[in-house]
Amino acid sequence: MDNTNSANNTLPANRIREAMAAVTAGQQNPEAAVPCPVCGAPGLQVEDRSVRPHAEWYALSCTSCGLDDTLHIPLGSRPGSFS
Ligand SMILES: [Zn+2]
Repeated sequence: MDNTNSANNTLPANRIREAMAAVTAGQQNPEAAVPCPVCGAPGLQVEDRSVRPHAEWYALSCTSCGLDDTLHIPLGSRPGSFS
């Protein structure tokens, strides 16, 4: 048994798309407040910990709901990426 999703500070699997969209939005407009993919509150903290060219890592945290997790995006797996 390893049901870590029972903790409310991890990113649920069904929110990964929202999290990726939030990261992208933050990159395109760093001045904007990015909404949290879990609770929707603006002000999501995104820390780029990527180890290019191997993978992208983003540490996501939200003070509203306590989200504190990392998002891993293997390079080359993005929809529409050059391959
Ligand atoms: Zn939140």
